[in-house]
Parts: sequence; structure tokens; C-alpha cells
Amino acid sequence: MLKQSFRKHYFLNKWVLISENRNKRPSDFGVEVEKKVSNSRSCPFCPGNEKMTTAELGRIVGRNKDAWIIRWFSNKFGAVSKSPEKVSSKGIFTQEPSFGYHYIIVDTNKHGVSWPSLSSSHLVKLMKVYSTVVDDLQSKKNIKYVVLFKNHGPNAGASLTHEHTQVVALTKIPDLIDQEFKSFSDYYKKNKKGFMCDIIKKEKKLNERIVFENKTAVVVAPFAPLYSLEVFVAPKRHVSELSELREDELKDLAVLMRKIFTKLESRNIDYNFVMHHGSNRKSKKFHLYFDIIPRLNKHAGFEMSGFVINSISPETSVKFYRSRK
Ligand SMILES: [Zn+2]
Ligand SMILES: [Zn+2]
Repeated sequence: MLKQSFRKHYFLNKWVLISENRNKRPSDFGVEVEKKVSNSRSCPFCPGNEKMTTAELGRIVGRNKDAWIIRWFSNKFGAVSKSPEKVSSKGIFTQEPSFGYHYIIVDTNKHGVSWPSLSSSHLVKLMKVYSTVVDDLQSKKNIKYVVLFKNHGPNAGASLTHEHTQVVALTKIPDLIDQEFKSFSDYYKKNKKGFMCDIIKKEKKLNERIVFENKTAVVVAPFAPLYSLEVFVAPKRHVSELSELREDELKDLAVLMRKIFTKLESRNIDYNFVMHHGSNRKSKKFHLYFDIIPRLNKHAGFEMSGFVINSISPETSVKFYRSRK
């Protein structure tokens, strides 16, 4: 049986990326309890253990030129691959090879250190790496969309404690992103204005759901959040890619994200973030933003219908992030 492919749902306009870990047997399934690599000796992302990862694709060095502070490489257990298994569709069983690239960016050389402890200048360097890696992957043949995301903590799907970011380049635009592109382009056609630019303007005027802002960036608790305590962080200027931002704008964006993560980590709330961007200059109307999803609650039975109930209003989220306790 084939273990890696894009499979289409029988009747929904939804693709599922099947990527089974070959090392796992069905008898291994269950909830894992405390099985994390917590010391730096066995951690593949720690300095000294570089041989445990695939060949390095790039690194940023610090003051000591021999030592890296950020490095990136291909994921050993990628969800997609440069040489995927050949698959073909048969009738209602629609599938495609899972071609793509899956990279890991190690955020820092320090084990157990996350964004709240990283300096602003380090975060700017990291943002620049995000931008370089995404641009590079977007220029590759057949790549339609690049997903840059972070899983922080076991409840957010992180299997390694050493802080890292993942980048997956796909031959398909994820359906949620595709819907967003369409909404943004429809809004532009109708109003001759950027959708996100307008959202930021109107939210600022109302001033009920602005969590934080600085000179060039803003954090908003969205009007209809899909997840409890969900916020997005966006540059105020209309750009569709990270590479269009100036250094001061990258810093403003990272500083606000760090502020959110600091609050979440102080309450031991795991989180994900996903960068939403224009993708390969296909959608200049799109406005770059980072969606931050705290993993406070699990979706229950009702949500399986596709409808979401959220027990925390965005107006309350604002109070949460701003509270000193
Ligand atoms: Zn480590
Ligand atoms: Zn805009």
C-alpha cells in the first residue's frame, strides 16, 4: 500500500496529504506521555549534533564566525518529497504524487530557549531567513504555495523541544488559502481597496479588538475567531511577501509576535503560527499576516460539522493579552 500521496476527498473540494511515518507500526498508536528529547546531547538541532540532520542548506553566524546561531536543512521525515512515490488516480480514488520540499529552520542554537528570550536583533535575522527560504522555495519549479509555520509545545504538535520553524513547499494551494485569495481579490474588485488594509483601518477606528500596535505593525483579535485567543499580526503597509518589508518593519512585526508568545508561554499555553502570504506574486492583492493559534481547547463533536463554537470572544482575548497577570 502506498504511504505518501495527495489524496482527494470523495466529494469535498479538499486534498489530504497522506504521509505515514514508516517507522511507526499500528501497535505504536496511542497518546504519547513525556517522550520528548529534553537534553542537548541527544537533540539533533543542538550545536555539535549537526551530523544528525540532513545536509545544511544555510546558516547565520554570530559574533564568533565559526558558530551558527540559526541554521536550516531539509526535514529528514518530510511530509512531501523531491522524489515522491508514483501514484495514479482510479475513478473516485483521486490522488497525486506528494512532490515538494520540507525544510526545518532552527530558530536559535540554544536548547530550550524560545521567542520570549530571543533578542529583537536575533528575531530580525530569523525573519530574514524566513523571507530568504520562502522566496527560494517559491522560485522552484511546480511550487504553487509555501507554508511557513511553527509548532510550539506538544499540544501544538511539536515533537522536538528545540525551538524551530517549518517550511513546506507544495504543488497545490491549500484550500483555506485559496478561499482567502478569492475573498481578497473579490473585495478589491468591488471596493478598489485592499481587504486587510481596510480591516486594519476599521478595527483601529473601532478600537475594540486591537491587542497591540507599534509604528508599522498591529495585532488584532479577529471579529470571528476560529480558535480561542486567536490573533493575527500584520504589517500596516500593504505587502504580500515578507521580502517586501524593510528591516524596521520586520522588527516591529517580530516584537509584537514575541509579546503574544510571552503571554501565552507565561500561562503554559502551546501555540502555532502560520504565515499567510501572496505566494509567488500570484496575488498582489493579498496582505501578508501571521495567524497565531493558541492550543487552548480541542475542537469537539459539534465542530466536526464544520461549524465552530468559540467560548472566548475576541474582545475578551484583548483583555487577556493586555492583562499584567
Ligand atoms: Zn537542542
Ligand atoms: Zn493591504
